[in-house]
Amino acid sequence: PKACLKTPAASGKSVENVVIIGSGPAGYTAAIYAARANLKPVVFEGYQVGGVPGGQLMTTTEVENFPGFPDGITGPDLMDRMRRQAERWGAELFLEDVEHIDVKSNPFTVQSSEREVKCHSMIFATGATAKRLRLPREDEFWSRGISACAICDGASPLFKRQILAVVGGGDTATEEAIYLTKYARRVHLLVRGDQLRASRAMQDRVYNNPNITLHFNTEAVDVVSNTKGQMSGILTRKVDTGEESVLEAKGLFYGIGHSPNSQLLQGQVKLDSSGYVLVEEGTAKTSVEGVFAAGDVQDHEWRQAVTAAGSGCIAALSVERYLVRND
Ligand code: FAD
Repeated sequence: PKACLKTPAASGKSVENVVIIGSGPAGYTAAIYAARANLKPVVFEGYQVGGVPGGQLMTTTEVENFPGFPDGITGPDLMDRMRRQAERWGAELFLEDVEHIDVKSNPFTVQSSEREVKCHSMIFATGATAKRLRLPREDEFWSRGISACAICDGASPLFKRQILAVVGGGDTATEEAIYLTKYARRVHLLVRGDQLRASRAMQDRVYNNPNITLHFNTEAVDVVSNTKGQMSGILTRKVDTGEESVLEAKGLFYGIGHSPNSQLLQGQVKLDSSGYVLVEEGTAKTSVEGVFAAGDVQDHEWRQAVTAAGSGCIAALSVERYLVRND
């Protein structure tokens, strides 16, 4: 059935059918499905990632594994296509960050810097953010030597043909290290444990890359600078012996995972111990009826564009059913 309930403009005082928060693959896919179901979704796109809508893929170059693009597609191009598809079907997009949510009673309230919107249902698709190490001099050298995105920054003149280091032992870190070897003279991979946690395929690529040097049982303690105040190395510590030494490096890239952007829902829907939104298995349902979650904010395992898009689809179809049932 084409659910067509109360559908005033977001600027009006009445209650929207559904508000979607987030503009990654999960948010836009949910918007496409909800708009095609005639629900006139209101989307708060946010600009948390680099000041633009589109989410994490805006920070990458080629996406080689999104179905339908046999020759690959750039992240920004893919996200622009999703955005246009959502707009074409009538989703109302606001480039604003949501600052406050109240889902304690229905209708729910969503507040951005510009407006307050009431809604019968909500799809929370705010994604995840790369974790930081919180080194003592991290703020001083953030974007001046320390980065959390090799693909965004690896080709910068600051890092080209330099010695660089990546922290982490999982898929993110190994992917970053391999990527950086395209530009860097040498890449050191600092792994706290005594083995890599990355997939077998990624491990093989690291071991077969002559420009990557692996340092197991090693953690970064701080950044070291030269007399000109530029980053010149990393103070490292062996976790087994406590021995400290300085590793020459002009850049330090974090590949230590992500935190879900779920702060807005804290204390309102059930989250797991790491802050991921808990959904009923195989669904997009959170612990609050009418509130659905999709994408990386509820997925600590797969974290792919296509899985985020798939869960956005499930969330929108679930909203449609929920609204029809509660009409
Ligand atoms: P995100 O893409 O994280 O988007 C979340 C959105 O929510 C953002 O638009 C953000 O602005 C918004 N938001 C957050 N807080 C608020 C708020 N308060 N108010 C309003 N909006 C808010 N996956 C692949 O499948 N293939 C790849 O090749 C690939 N490469 C990647 C390369 C990099 C460098 C990175 C970082 C990730 C890559 N991924 C890749 C993973 C993929 O990007 C994510 O799995 C996917 O983007 C998750 O989608 P999402 O919609 O859940 O969230």
